[in-house]
Amino acid sequence: MEIQMSSFQTLGFNAQLLKAKASGYAVYGVAISIAAVIVATALSGYLQFGYVNFDSLLQAQKSNAVLWFLDITPLFFACWGQYIGSIMSYEAGALLADQMYELRTHNAALENKVNHDATHDSITGLPNRVLFHDRVSQTINLSQRKKSKFAIVLLDLDRFKEINDTLGHFNGDRLLKLVGMRLEMVIRKSDTLSRFGGDEFAILLTGITDEGVVSSIAEKIHQSLKPAFILDDLKLDIQASVGVVIYPEHGEDTDTLIQRADIAMYVAKHAGRDTVTYEAKLDQYSPQRLTLMGELRQAIENDDLTLHYQPQIKASNEHAIGAEVLVRWNHPEHGLIPPDDFIGLAERTGLIEPLTRWVLKHSLQQGSIWHKSGLKIALAVNLSAKSLLNPDFPDILTNLLISADFPKEYLLLEVTETAVMADPELALNILNRIANMGIRISIDDFGTGYSSLAYLKRLPVSELKIDKSFVSDMLTNEDDSAIVHATIDLAHNLGLEVVAEGVEDQATTDKLRSLNCDIYQGYHFSKPVPPKELQAWFQSNRYGYA
Ligand code: C2E
Ligand code: CA
Ligand code: CA
Repeated sequence: MEIQMSSFQTLGFNAQLLKAKASGYAVYGVAISIAAVIVATALSGYLQFGYVNFDSLLQAQKSNAVLWFLDITPLFFACWGQYIGSIMSYEAGALLADQMYELRTHNAALENKVNHDATHDSITGLPNRVLFHDRVSQTINLSQRKKSKFAIVLLDLDRFKEINDTLGHFNGDRLLKLVGMRLEMVIRKSDTLSRFGGDEFAILLTGITDEGVVSSIAEKIHQSLKPAFILDDLKLDIQASVGVVIYPEHGEDTDTLIQRADIAMYVAKHAGRDTVTYEAKLDQYSPQRLTLMGELRQAIENDDLTLHYQPQIKASNEHAIGAEVLVRWNHPEHGLIPPDDFIGLAERTGLIEPLTRWVLKHSLQQGSIWHKSGLKIALAVNLSAKSLLNPDFPDILTNLLISADFPKEYLLLEVTETAVMADPELALNILNRIANMGIRISIDDFGTGYSSLAYLKRLPVSELKIDKSFVSDMLTNEDDSAIVHATIDLAHNLGLEVVAEGVEDQATTDKLRSLNCDIYQGYHFSKPVPPKELQAWFQSNRYGYA
């Protein structure tokens, strides 16, 4: 508004200025033509009478018709100046008015854009968290008056981070856009779909008459994501975890509702369920989620973590040869927390590096004690992507091996395909340095990521570990059985050993043996156990120890 006022003032002022300038030139014109009249009259008088005085000037004026014409030029200049001044100021006014109009439209568009950007997500163009909060608050007011219900559906994509890390942010963004478009097709025009940031979406469903409607929409959401997403040549399967809250049952203000939808979503994700509707008893998960981060740092410093070891058995002679090191968090209130509940958290908060160092330090010390007592077993330690991107990691590892006095040829590091693909060149460089130190490398969770065979060939690995999701179902699921079969053949063709994890029974063991799998690991042989139990298991188990 202020801009417009001052612009109008400038417009008037400029027109005045131009008009004055045109009049100024007219005055010069008048002055010059008066001077011309005087000079011409004097010259003409002198030529006619031989002298210049008043009489000769008067006579010249009376007798010379050319001077008469000259006499009217000052008048002409005066009129012309006035006329041109008006025209110029009119034209300038029109020009400025046009420009003002353009300026105003531009200004309004800019203001709209700023407003839009502040309330919309730049990747999907959907309303953002701010606008969503606003709409929920408005809907609460409306629902209070009308005594009606509404629902909030919070949705988090599973494994999106992996895809983003593997395929890059550009493709991650493309995928988010596609997900947004599919979700938009499921909801009604009156509902609000929002991207909360990251891989989280929220939907406000208004005018809910019964809760069955919400369940059916949640179901439609899952259905809409079922067909694979195609990005270039890749087919990506995306699933989502959904948390639901209903107003007014689950909360009467915006923050409470969204917080509880988040708890329900978190529980869905961790329980492996598609959709969870909030209940009061789920609250136990939220303080845990919020305070865990700070506590984990302390736990690492205070040695509140413990290590469990799960034996690995060589197929050819059924001898136990080593163990995978699996971390647990011994929490004073929550008890033993499984790694799936805090490794992701540690990766997101940068705590994974101290955690990895902690695991390596303590497992190598334990391994060293076993070796000195004659129990010469190999140890497989899990590495996260962060270690593969840290150029100092090989040196850190060397120091840990030296101070624990553990023979490096007995150490095996498990890395996932996804971790390698996060930055293949850098990872390859670091893996080569580790391999050159004489430490073996294993590809963990093989089959679940998007690794390319070309890279696999270049990686200095000595082992592939087939993910337990394929192994545990291989007797009943033909696809899984085919994958296990193909992976074993592939590994052998590349000169690698194969470990099958998640071996839960004798029938699976027999099947794996017939496929020439090299090493078994799973509950059928032993669950991951504390060091004392592992030692006892090795000394007394029916599988020989080599
Ligand atoms: P992972 O590396 O795939 O480890 C194997 C997981 O499968 C372990 O779960 C193990 O207990 C479980 N498992 C083994 N045999 C069977 C079986 O026969 N049936 C079934 N259903 N499960 C079996 P855990 O210990 O909960 O570890 C989960 C994941 O946490 C690990 O998966 C690994 O990715 C991560 N993790 C564990 N310790 C560490 C660590 O020290 N550092 C890092 N970066 N990650 C770790
Ligand atoms: Ca592992
Ligand atoms: Ca695994």
